[in-house]
Amino acid sequence: MDDQYMYARYARQISLPEMGIAGQDKLLASSVLICGCGGLGSPAAFYTAAMGVGCIGLVDNDVVSRSNLNRQLLYTPADVGKSKVACAAARLRQFNPHISVNAYPLYIDATNIGPVVKDYDIIIDCLDNLDSRLLLNDACVTEKKPFIHAGVAHLSGQVMTVIPGQSACLRCLLPVSQKKDAPTRGVIGAAAGVIGSLQALAVYKYLLSLATDQGQYVLFDGWNNRLQHLELQADPGCFCQK
Ligand SMILES: [Zn+2]
Repeated sequence: MDDQYMYARYARQISLPEMGIAGQDKLLASSVLICGCGGLGSPAAFYTAAMGVGCIGLVDNDVVSRSNLNRQLLYTPADVGKSKVACAAARLRQFNPHISVNAYPLYIDATNIGPVVKDYDIIIDCLDNLDSRLLLNDACVTEKKPFIHAGVAHLSGQVMTVIPGQSACLRCLLPVSQKKDAPTRGVIGAAAGVIGSLQALAVYKYLLSLATDQGQYVLFDGWNNRLQHLELQADPGCFCQK
């Protein structure tokens, strides 16, 4: 593909002082794995594809259901009943033909996610249950891969950047994570949009080696439009610090 044609779509970010053509080339040479292609995965996938992360992997074992459509912008009514990763991969390829997209129709378990995680620069945790999140956490820590955890419910959510060996992982704060993984899964799509977008922004900062958010637990309160962050300490006894 003609370079000038390709770079034109990124002109408004290439003009940023921290980016330039070199930064764009860095994004195009990078890879991100998005685990969970739902309410958080949709904005995270669209914005990482939009900024030109060159290779995007999508993990999800679910099919699209009608009740997904209030927040999962990757899908349309015509996708109901079809594989999420297949539909999402097709949508992203259409959205940005300059990047490659890999689909993994996996239900995450203790053995299948490590080999996938290994092939990517950074991972985004857009999952919706604690068991899968911990399996992903463990795979990322074992493979020493950074990941951006997030969760959303109702109008609010949280985001956390984990760099194994440097900052706290989910197991360091298990009581907090458990509290956040409430059984009520009702959510307003726009809240998932805010949180998934914060994840994509964290990926941008990490890939360009700008200030990273590691060690911060960012809380978004959509009722009062408040964004707070707590500084987290890693548990020195946790396996993520070995
Ligand atoms: Zn830990």
